[in-house]
Amino acid sequence: MALEMDRDRDCILCGKCLEACPLFKATGREELSPRGKSFLIQEALEERNLGNPAAARKLLGLCLGCGRCADVCPQGRNLPETLRRIKAGHPGWQAWVWRAWINNAKHVWPWLGGCAKLLPGRSTAGSLPSVVHALASRPQMEMFRRSAGDGFLPSPAVLFPGCMARYAKPWWIQAAGRIMGSAGQGLEDFPDWNCCGFTLGQAGLSGLRSDACVKNVELWRNLGRPLLLTICATCTTALRNYEKKADLFSDEDERRTWAKAVQPLSRYLNPHDFRPLTDACLTYHRPCHAPNPDPDEAFLRDLFGPRFIAGAQGACCGMGGVMRLSAPELSTQVATQCWDALQPQALGHVVSGCSGCVLQLSATAPPKTDVSHWLELMRM
Ligand code: SF4
Ligand code: SF4
Repeated sequence: MALEMDRDRDCILCGKCLEACPLFKATGREELSPRGKSFLIQEALEERNLGNPAAARKLLGLCLGCGRCADVCPQGRNLPETLRRIKAGHPGWQAWVWRAWINNAKHVWPWLGGCAKLLPGRSTAGSLPSVVHALASRPQMEMFRRSAGDGFLPSPAVLFPGCMARYAKPWWIQAAGRIMGSAGQGLEDFPDWNCCGFTLGQAGLSGLRSDACVKNVELWRNLGRPLLLTICATCTTALRNYEKKADLFSDEDERRTWAKAVQPLSRYLNPHDFRPLTDACLTYHRPCHAPNPDPDEAFLRDLFGPRFIAGAQGACCGMGGVMRLSAPELSTQVATQCWDALQPQALGHVVSGCSGCVLQLSATAPPKTDVSHWLELMRM
């Protein structure tokens, strides 16, 4: 259906998606651009000779899913959504591995974190050992202490920590708990949330994504439909997108309640409630999937004042979910472009509010550069 939708919206060759695509910018390869991939899809739809079908299939899988092409297209074409549907109909080995990676996160991620001690300390940026190190790393970047502000959250409020905090970086949950203070519920006893579903969908695992959505809404309903606080930009976007699936909810009223319930924790924070512990600067990397406006960015900008440095405009970290597995070298190439775009003075302390960005930037950071989630700035 999406294929037909894109077909109706003819490409007018304006080139805006090329300017926006981080994969095209990093490689200069036209066939990896949104327009190049759209052309391949068009060929397939019209059943023309695709030349080498295996190569065509591989090319269609080379997309970071950042959505920047869809954001700028005047014709409303949405290539990542089209690719997601094609992948759902033709799952490959990458989707199988990604399913195992997400479904077994509870066991595999902590085990991998333990393996980091056995790997060499210095690894090539973007290599598998560097990703394993990034999964286990806990940078010492405490810059603030919360000094006031209990009772700032509407109640009831429950944390949706996301897979990374639950299975690899539980100290993010502890930090969120300290910040939420007495207003927060469900920190030790939050329910057994499923994956938000974003990367499952991107890998073409539509059935698993639907199951995760249904279970998360059920858990939320059983808790009495509380405020659902998120600490990962991609989780926020994925959970908010549930609203578009009317069949997930018992009625229209519940759907509207959900739409209001999913909120980033940073939206409720008052910078005046935090006391600085250092005068260091900080560079913020804005995730592709951050809501617009981005509440994490707004909070950190106010918190740091003149010491806040905005990261490279429109830069994608190159994580790309399942693409990290299928084309790690391209993923690293996009990350290198992201780092190259930063001013030298912006290196040092880099933070983000997306689990995937934190992992990818940690695994590809230049020497003497710390990368963390903004929650890690808060002394516990
Ligand atoms: S979703 Fe991102 S990486 Fe994929 S084609 Fe669009 S701009 Fe490029
Ligand atoms: S932005 Fe849209 S209309 Fe413009 S070249 Fe890209 S796909 Fe075509």
